[in-house]
Amino acid sequence: MSTISLLGSTGSIGRQSLDVIAACGMSVSAITANKSTALLEEQARQFRPKLVVAYDPEAAKDLQVRLADLPVRIASGMEGLVEAATMEEADTVLTSVVGMIGLKPTLAAIGAKKRIALANKETLVCAGELVMRSAEETGAEIIPVDSEHSALFQCLECNRDRGEVKRLILTASGGPFFGKTREQLAHVARADALKHPNWSMGAKITTDSATLMNKGLEFIEAMRLYRMPPEKIAITVHRQSIIHSMVEYCDNAVLAQMGVPDMRLPIEYALTYPRRAKAVAGELDLLRCPPLTFEEPDCDTFRCLALALEAAKQPGNPCAVLNGANEAAVGLFLEDKISFLQIADLVAYALEQVPKGPADTLEQVLAADAAAREAVKEGFGRL
Ligand code: MG
Repeated sequence: MSTISLLGSTGSIGRQSLDVIAACGMSVSAITANKSTALLEEQARQFRPKLVVAYDPEAAKDLQVRLADLPVRIASGMEGLVEAATMEEADTVLTSVVGMIGLKPTLAAIGAKKRIALANKETLVCAGELVMRSAEETGAEIIPVDSEHSALFQCLECNRDRGEVKRLILTASGGPFFGKTREQLAHVARADALKHPNWSMGAKITTDSATLMNKGLEFIEAMRLYRMPPEKIAITVHRQSIIHSMVEYCDNAVLAQMGVPDMRLPIEYALTYPRRAKAVAGELDLLRCPPLTFEEPDCDTFRCLALALEAAKQPGNPCAVLNGANEAAVGLFLEDKISFLQIADLVAYALEQVPKGPADTLEQVLAADAAAREAVKEGFGRL
């Protein structure tokens, strides 16, 4: 039975992971969050990890008091995250923190040869080469938690020769604004963007799903994880989110992985692979399913997707710039400081402003990320 260090335990994926862990009777070695101390306390009392990390130092002080009666160590900051990612007891590190902050602990966990259940797509988007190279060096397994990549992982499993793969086909729900025009999107509110038709997720990824940046990031994530060139990855809008992605082989056979849209299914598979355990997610009733439809994505209306596909084709730092700029711009949108369409404007501005360069080392990736955030700040001032 696995012992899991769960980075980002209070977010949407983190909470669903704890559901799976409880249902499957696995143990938890560490939980981490930014500063949701009340929930961290509750989780610590239920799962009894050895280490609890609040990234925010003030929140860590609060936890010391809250958990004084438990035999638990409290830590904070990046050091705390790295400690959680590398602890002896853990065989699996589930990284569900949101954004670039997940990169260092993921690299540390890879260094410690842990199995990585990866739910932090930003890590692979920014530093895909670095992460995959490190994993090859240490032999650490990376099992994707993202539903599309888990689907691809499952459809690729039986295939020994990657040369037999013709295309990866990523499915996209299309988000809450599918079929809308740019004019209609000019005045959408934050609350509208946060209403996803099929999946229940956090604010950052739900916004990314509305702009389709999420699919762009997933395209880059698929390139890195499966070492596929961009011309061998296709995106199809599939509104029902029943097929989670497909692999087309050289003989034109297409394998699809299907299921109800419930993140607990890919989470569970990442934790139990290569076995399958119990049914935590619900059953797919094909007779009650809506008809399955497939359509082209609209890259003109959803410019974020076009920007991501463009960055994906370029070597070096553009993907890290894209990601950093997007994180900063989505932050501004969620604070009601910019409009929905301005997210793409600011990402495009950052991609123009930040000089191209390599992204082979952690320092280069972090520098590209910082420059992108700076460019968004500057671009915001000019709006
Ligand atoms: Mg996904």
